[in-house]
Amino acid sequence: MPDSVVNLYSDTQTRPSAAMREAMASAEVADEQRGHDPTVNALQDEVAALLGQEAALFAPSGSMCNQIAIRLHIRPLGDEMYAHRLAHTVNAEAGGAATIAGAMVMALEGEGGMFDGAALRARMRDPLDTHEPRSRLVTVEQPTNLGGGRVWPLAQIEEVLDVAREFGLRSHLDGARLLNATVASGESAAAYAGGFDTAWIDFSKGLGAPVGACLAGSAELIEEARRYKQMLGGSMRQGGIVAAAARYGLQHNVERLAEDHANARFLAEGLAGIEGVEIDPTTVETNIVIFDVADPVALHDKLAAAGVEMSLLEGRVRAVTHLDVDRAGVERALAAVKDAIA
Ligand SMILES: *Cc1c(COP(=O)(O)O)cnc(C)c1O
Repeated sequence: MPDSVVNLYSDTQTRPSAAMREAMASAEVADEQRGHDPTVNALQDEVAALLGQEAALFAPSGSMCNQIAIRLHIRPLGDEMYAHRLAHTVNAEAGGAATIAGAMVMALEGEGGMFDGAALRARMRDPLDTHEPRSRLVTVEQPTNLGGGRVWPLAQIEEVLDVAREFGLRSHLDGARLLNATVASGESAAAYAGGFDTAWIDFSKGLGAPVGACLAGSAELIEEARRYKQMLGGSMRQGGIVAAAARYGLQHNVERLAEDHANARFLAEGLAGIEGVEIDPTTVETNIVIFDVADPVALHDKLAAAGVEMSLLEGRVRAVTHLDVDRAGVERALAAVKDAIA
């Protein structure tokens, strides 16, 4: 294994910078579980305002935000949740929607991890038919992850929310990388998130914090969310130490996401020029690059031996750019792919 590694496995691989660690070390703290931690409270206020929601709740992870939200919205009486087939909630939360909330999950199809109002409408149940589950919740992932980092156009989100309102559905936004979407599109986070019943952002991806996410919604829903966070063991005592890292990320690491997007596009364009790699670089809108090769496992292993880490997902190869990989690192990754395939 070479000593320096270009780690494109995920943007979760970022390490807190010296300045972020300083902010953590000097954070004012108190008991977060009792609502006394000033740094956690400040973060929650900032995120609520950012997402155009009334209140917010700091949690240890994005997965917990999804699970709290699904539990909030779903009644364990045969309620159905709609999500894209490639959604994190469907594929990467250990079946939590079923076990924690008791949700029936109906997977929707659509290009790039996105679906439209018509696809949702086509799945709506007849509320008077006692044979059927009850339509209850729609979740949107902005930007998509396994869908390839695609950014939902605002109009498409609004169309889905219109259908949700028409059928009395609750709505939830998985905004793990929402700020990648806002930087890519120029839309505000509130424009994307404000219309949902609940929405959250992650701090441990491109924003560079070691851990943490924040779920936002109405004051009433967030009060109830506090109960589920406790139930799942998500209270954190002196959580201000990690909330300080999240606040640092929000203050310093948002605009620079544009660099990650430029690096991802550069990587995708380079990959498109390599014989044996299949990718359409024009679909790369944020920091995720997913591509196909004849033997993804062999490529993955050869890259790892050359000090380039990528991930394997559904028989495809994924590379994610972030603040710990610069342009030179991306160039090294491209050269390694070329070598590995030759
Ligand atoms: C990473 C991710 C999550 C989970 O967030 P964690 O903080 O890792 O638990 C949820 N949804 C999407 C789209 C993600 O990319």
